[in-house]
Amino acid sequence: MPVRTRIAPSPTGDPHVGTAYIALFNLCFARQHGGQFILRIEDTDAARSTASSEQAIFDSLRWLGLDWDEGPDVGGDFGPYRQSERSEIYAEYARQLVEQGNAFYCFATADELDEMRREQMAAGLPVKYDGRGLALSEQEVQRRLAAGDEHVIRMKIPEQGSCRVQDMLRGEIEIEWQQVDMQVLLKADGLPTYHLANVVDDHLMEITHVIRGEEWINSAPKHQLLYDYFGWTMPQLCHLPLLRNPDKSKLSKRKNPTSIQYYERMGYLPEALTNYLGRMGWSMPDEREKFSLEEMQAEFDLSRVSLGGPIFDVEKLDWLNGQWIRDDLSEDDLLQRLKDWAFNEARLKSALPLIQPRIEKLSDVAPAIGHLYSGLLDLSEHDFDSLKLERADQVKVLQFVLWSLERQSDWSRDALFDTLKSLATLMDIKLQLFLAPLFVAISGSTATFSVMDAMALLGPDISRARTRHAINVLGGVSKKQNKKYEKEFASLIN
Ligand code: GLU
Repeated sequence: MPVRTRIAPSPTGDPHVGTAYIALFNLCFARQHGGQFILRIEDTDAARSTASSEQAIFDSLRWLGLDWDEGPDVGGDFGPYRQSERSEIYAEYARQLVEQGNAFYCFATADELDEMRREQMAAGLPVKYDGRGLALSEQEVQRRLAAGDEHVIRMKIPEQGSCRVQDMLRGEIEIEWQQVDMQVLLKADGLPTYHLANVVDDHLMEITHVIRGEEWINSAPKHQLLYDYFGWTMPQLCHLPLLRNPDKSKLSKRKNPTSIQYYERMGYLPEALTNYLGRMGWSMPDEREKFSLEEMQAEFDLSRVSLGGPIFDVEKLDWLNGQWIRDDLSEDDLLQRLKDWAFNEARLKSALPLIQPRIEKLSDVAPAIGHLYSGLLDLSEHDFDSLKLERADQVKVLQFVLWSLERQSDWSRDALFDTLKSLATLMDIKLQLFLAPLFVAISGSTATFSVMDAMALLGPDISRARTRHAINVLGGVSKKQNKKYEKEFASLIN
């Protein structure tokens, strides 16, 4: 059987470097075995999935050179490759499991389940579904289905014993069935959960190796049981270690930018970022740090992945990126990269209307727009000294702005202005005072054109990163303070 691997991202946010890391390892494994690499979009969470996030996943993975053989945008023999277009298939398989006696209808309301959990907690019992749907008689189930009562389909789980799952890197993993919940397979809206859709698709798309992040290990027993219920062979499983911040915590955007687009906007070379991701838990046989995607594919060996949590360290990435810039680009290449990145006519033109009213000489231009061509600004807390707001309020404003920017999807100047203006009103701070710390965070000073215009041109990734950077420069927000702010922010916004 030809090797077929896949990446199965959910399009619910910015394209994550972790997705690129998993995609890279899947791609190398497939290529090394002369197999195929598939991109499947897992958009069963209709409320959180967006077309723009899906497009950003395509663009970012392609920018990194991680091309797929089959996917929603390139087609293939096993489509559709978007789960939202496959709902009927999952519903059919869920019904099959009910008929076989491996799954059952559950009519419990959200309130009933909350009550159940509260009682379990009060009694010091583990919190999990108590199997109440299984107690209903066949007639009762039919009567309620005929009456159109809201319901889900859940899978049965053995009451005793344990499940053993084989992992290519970790060997046998044993998990007690007692710890596994009777997972919902089909939701009340008729859409599948991740577990059902994932298993059905991996089978129908003839995936042979599921190489994914460690955070999915706990799903493996449910998946294995589903394969057994259907009588299908389970693909081989391999759970890769999670990427970590330098302090060993799980890589998260609170500590490190995680969006691939951030690295693109910061001016990293895609070859260097792909190279760096290839160093996450893996090394070349000769241990050299710099290698191309082709070289990695040629030498790839999954068994050499080490399970210690790989550290995603931006300083190391900077070093590697510098190596790529110096060793691999001719002057002409470098010129072309610069043009593609930001030094092009379109970008300059978009800034001209902002600076033309403010300059006296052509030599004023570079200082006036330098911040549009920079990464993180070289700020110190003294840059905020002359502002009218107290220091504590500056930090608070920046933190609230950051949370607002993280929720902002329309990145046009006007939309940004509306968001900031209404936040200033809610916080009861005059707009000019409110915007001043943001001016310094984004543009380095208040003596420049509108910060909304600057953010619109810089895009979400750099704007958020600079805001976060400014908060840190001002001493950051303590955990305790953060909790308080979170509450206050939620009450303002809702
Ligand atoms: N949709 C899951 C994700 O967002 C896929 C996990 C898997 O590879 O099974 O990562």
